[in-house]
Amino acid sequence: MKKIAFIGLGNMGGPMAANLLDKGLDVTVFDLVPEAVQQACEKGAKSASSAIEAVKHADVVVTMLPAATHVKSLYLGEDGIIAHAPDNTLFIDSSTIDAQSARDVGEAVEKSGRKFVDAPVSGGTAGAAAGTLTFIMGGSDQAVEEARPVLDCMGKNIFHAGPLGAGQVAKICNNMLLAVLMTGTSEALQLAIANGLDPKVVSDIMLQSSGCNWTLQKYNPCPDVMENVPSSNDYQGGFMVKLMNKDLSLAMDAATTSNSATPMASLAQSLYRLHQSKGNQNKDFSSIFKMFEQH
Ligand code: NAD
Repeated sequence: MKKIAFIGLGNMGGPMAANLLDKGLDVTVFDLVPEAVQQACEKGAKSASSAIEAVKHADVVVTMLPAATHVKSLYLGEDGIIAHAPDNTLFIDSSTIDAQSARDVGEAVEKSGRKFVDAPVSGGTAGAAAGTLTFIMGGSDQAVEEARPVLDCMGKNIFHAGPLGAGQVAKICNNMLLAVLMTGTSEALQLAIANGLDPKVVSDIMLQSSGCNWTLQKYNPCPDVMENVPSSNDYQGGFMVKLMNKDLSLAMDAATTSNSATPMASLAQSLYRLHQSKGNQNKDFSSIFKMFEQH
């Protein structure tokens, strides 16, 4: 049986590792937060005392960290994990980071003779828990084919976008659109409320109309319209505002580099920055709904 090392057991990594364990895989975990490690161990994971310890016998290493700085410091340099893994190890980084950092890390892994794919995900914490994530890979055909059976245990749709870094480019384009959809859906629902309508009824109408989109289908931002979404749990858990701002910055950087016009995303970025500056950085990104509330 393949030995998996899983590093980064946060809102996404925790449930992803749980799915690997549910499929009966041999999983060793590490996170800087001991409670996260403890929770994974209660589901059958083995704990390691450090990231280096976790990868020592791993056939496959999966990393799920907040941002590029965490990924680079985990992988690169003398204290990085690459050289501590067996010669044949496949590394899968599912964090959302900029494409150049993914290429830098991937090239360092390949230089050592090991394999790497960038494999950011879409589907949110609910998709992570249900094992229905979408994985968007960048990397060589061989590494991608090797990663597929592992990702199959955590996801439903698995794509190969292109060479190293391509998974990250596709992912930030998707999240840029998501930010626009979430702000647009929020202002539409608040407009309906301000004009005396029930947000549940309006949501049902829009779900069957031309405004239908993923935020209405899976992640309604208005409290108590849907069960088991962050808006119905005081915007706790889910995808933090500070992470959405990170992704919008990545999208804006990519737009600058390619001289692309992204006016809708620019506005969404300003709104999310303003929202974060009012103390909402750790709330779920659907909390932008509150910004449009009339008092
Ligand atoms: P999170 O902050 O909840 O979890 C990150 C985890 O990484 C934390 O538990 C942290 O302790 C751990 N960590 C950080 N540095 C570490 C290190 N050096 N060694 C070990 N552990 C370390 O973040 P998240 O919501 O799980 O998101 C992870 C990534 O997935 C981000 O890049 C995010 O943009 C992306 N993402 C998140 C969602 C979502 O809905 N939350 C959806 C798609 C993609």
